[in-house]
Amino acid sequence: MVLIKENWVFVETDLQKINPVTYQLITKMKQISHDPVVAVLIEKTDANLETELAEYGPDKILLIKDDQLVDGDDLELTDALNKLIQKQGTPNTFIFPATVVGRSVAPRLQARLRTGLTADCLDLKFEGDLLIQTKPSYGDNIMCEITIPNHHPQMATARPNVFAAEKQTNPDLKVEEISQLDWEKDSKLEIKSQVLPPKTSDDITQAKRIVALGRGDKTDAGITVANKLAQKLHATVGVTRPLTDLDQYTINEQIGQSGQTVAPELLVNLGVSGAVQYTAGIANAKVVVSANTDENAQIFKYSDYYFVGNALEFSRALEAIL
Ligand SMILES: Cc1cc2nc3c(=O)[nH]c(=O)nc-3n(C[C@H](O)[C@H](O)[C@H](O)COP(=O)(O)OP(=O)(O)OC[C@H]3O[C@@H](n4cnc5c(N)ncnc54)[C@H](O)[C@@H]3O)c2cc1C
Repeated sequence: MVLIKENWVFVETDLQKINPVTYQLITKMKQISHDPVVAVLIEKTDANLETELAEYGPDKILLIKDDQLVDGDDLELTDALNKLIQKQGTPNTFIFPATVVGRSVAPRLQARLRTGLTADCLDLKFEGDLLIQTKPSYGDNIMCEITIPNHHPQMATARPNVFAAEKQTNPDLKVEEISQLDWEKDSKLEIKSQVLPPKTSDDITQAKRIVALGRGDKTDAGITVANKLAQKLHATVGVTRPLTDLDQYTINEQIGQSGQTVAPELLVNLGVSGAVQYTAGIANAKVVVSANTDENAQIFKYSDYYFVGNALEFSRALEAIL
């Protein structure tokens, strides 16, 4: 095994578009890494996604132009990435987004490489070449630091929206095109066409403003007023986990550790206690406003402004003056 002093990031693409989580991972790795950050991009032969990718300052792009592999299934992607490592050498780290694709391909690759993988990280940092991977553990009640000191690549998946993407130029960017990966085609699937799934609700992960409902404001009146408030604020409605028991909310609207990580400019919490599983999803919210009857509610520790009292009264009053 030839170990190379590089830190790789898998570039996730959806229907020929780069998934924004890739930019977040590249930005984070650029901030913490003293070795080159390398983006691994698989694209169609006539695509040019490397131009967009370059705007986020990777030191190198490993470019695999392959019309079949773009639509490859998880096993084929795993095999291709394994072959890429055999060809290029073993990077110090290999980071994937904690998305459907990343969560499927990363552990398969990890098993083939007989290395370690930490899933769903909320933070990453280096001590020398050692990657310190922070993730919630023990029923998500504590944050745990995990390291993989004796195996390479040190692998991790990281949640979307945990890190902020920042554009930066890198005049030293190198693009290296990889040919003849000779990956094993074993897909039983034949893809006839691809379409994006229909949108059932606004994508909360991209929302600039969010009104979040908790159990303390779960009544019909609470939900109605919260929706009106959200409309006036041009905000999306999010919920804590208990509200996903209601018919109108799903995991797509649930904020937190087992739901969505959000990064709005404004977050209004109505009757939310601030359990660690919820606050894990709001670390990048800019201005946080909370209403809760309990003056010692945890959520106030994460809030810039707060109101001790009835959330329904608060949301009604706020809605009325907007
Ligand atoms: C593995 C695991 C993963 C989890 N993942 C998530 C997750 O992703 N997201 C998530 O949200 N939860 C998650 N949870 C659940 C989490 O632990 C909490 O139970 C949940 O966040 C609590 O939701 P809540 O704040 O709405 O309810 P509660 O904790 O019940 O809080 C209700 C709050 O409302 C206040 N209140 C009551 N009446 C009023 C009123 N009239 N006006 C104003 N305030 C009022 C109360 O003082 C209280 O603070 C997870 C749990 C586990 C074990």
